[in-house]
Amino acid sequence: MPSYDVIVIGGGPSGSIAAKTLAAAGAKVTIVEKDFKRVKPCGGATPSTSFREFDIPQKEIVKKIEVISTIAPSGYRINTSLNGGYLAIVERGSFDSSLRKQAEAAGADLMEAEFLRIKDKQKRICITVLEGGRERDVCSDFLIAADGVNSRVASAIGLKSLPGVYTIQEEVDMQAAEDFQGLNVCEFWFGSSHAPNFYSWVFPKKGYIDIGTGHVKGKYLKEFMKNFKMRRRIHGTGKQRVYRLPLKWRDSLVRGNILLAGDAAGLVMPLSYEGIYYAMKSGKMAAEAIINGKPKDYEKHWNKKFLKQFKLMNALKKYFLRNDRTAEEMVNLHKRKEIQEASLRLWLEKDAGLSKILSSMGFLRKILY
Ligand SMILES: Cc1cc2nc3c(=O)[nH]c(=O)nc-3n(C[C@H](O)[C@H](O)[C@H](O)COP(=O)(O)OP(=O)(O)OC[C@H]3O[C@@H](n4cnc5c(N)ncnc54)[C@H](O)[C@@H]3O)c2cc1C
Repeated sequence: MPSYDVIVIGGGPSGSIAAKTLAAAGAKVTIVEKDFKRVKPCGGATPSTSFREFDIPQKEIVKKIEVISTIAPSGYRINTSLNGGYLAIVERGSFDSSLRKQAEAAGADLMEAEFLRIKDKQKRICITVLEGGRERDVCSDFLIAADGVNSRVASAIGLKSLPGVYTIQEEVDMQAAEDFQGLNVCEFWFGSSHAPNFYSWVFPKKGYIDIGTGHVKGKYLKEFMKNFKMRRRIHGTGKQRVYRLPLKWRDSLVRGNILLAGDAAGLVMPLSYEGIYYAMKSGKMAAEAIINGKPKDYEKHWNKKFLKQFKLMNALKKYFLRNDRTAEEMVNLHKRKEIQEASLRLWLEKDAGLSKILSSMGFLRKILY
């Protein structure tokens, strides 16, 4: 029976960065990914700074976003320049595959197989996977659950499924959108006719634009998308995909020798719903805790670095995404320099240290409390 120090379930951003970190430190590690050709439904916007932080090849950047455009329910629009920085847009098929290749180059094994169940977790963890139509068992000292929002590993250890929002995403031709703002602008549209308690987006990609919206009840998605396209004056139609996004992080990230990272742990920033950076960061932090022989430290270090920020953003989401009036108030606030600064830091300076980020959010705290 094959044996590893660590098995990572899921070869998305969290799993690949975890495996790369472990392999580079000399651990015997494998990624178990059910589909190497999978393209995760995703806007693909991630801070440019993360390319340096995680040593990701720059060629994965298909667009550089220098302006965030926020549109209120009334139609009032405010453009925030990212002041020389940018959000990188990636195509998830190519991006995920490139991260897996990096993990392999660092020494990790890649297994195209589906995690089915945990067979035994008395001392070591033995799991059953489905590979090429056949079941087989693999064992390890640690398991990292990086298998996304519908994590089967989380269910296998008795954790509840995460509350989520359903998103609908469509790829349309660039010419299909009237008043297209340009290839360096991401648009965030607020309004209850198409995105109550959420937002709709328009992101430029490679040769097309990625549009979408979301709601906690999946049955309304098609109607909301129709309303959004009408409001945004997008005339074309394209391939639509529906997927879930976690709405809340898990309180516990470590269960014995099983560590949860990325969407499997619900680590998506409330309000902005950004998850790629936090997936990679949590994968790295989980791996480092294992390397240091202190797996429990993963949760401690994560909470120290990000919990306050997640809680504040969650409170802001609850306050501002209640209705059209509060969403209007939020967009209007972006006229203020301190709010522009806060959003700049939130988008681009993830690793800047909590105090720096929270200091620029002091004003928002005052609104809430
Ligand atoms: C519509 C939409 C738009 C988004 N836009 C953005 C954005 O612009 N920017 C941003 O930062 N975030 C965005 N997100 C969030 C982002 O996509 C996720 O947070 C991120 O992909 C999480 O990475 P992950 O590695 O944790 O999980 P995933 O990327 O979901 O990867 C999990 C992997 O596990 C594999 N897997 C699952 N089950 C099994 C199994 N049983 N056995 C083996 N393998 C398995 C899957 O095939 C997959 O490759 C968006 C999400 C959605 C739904």
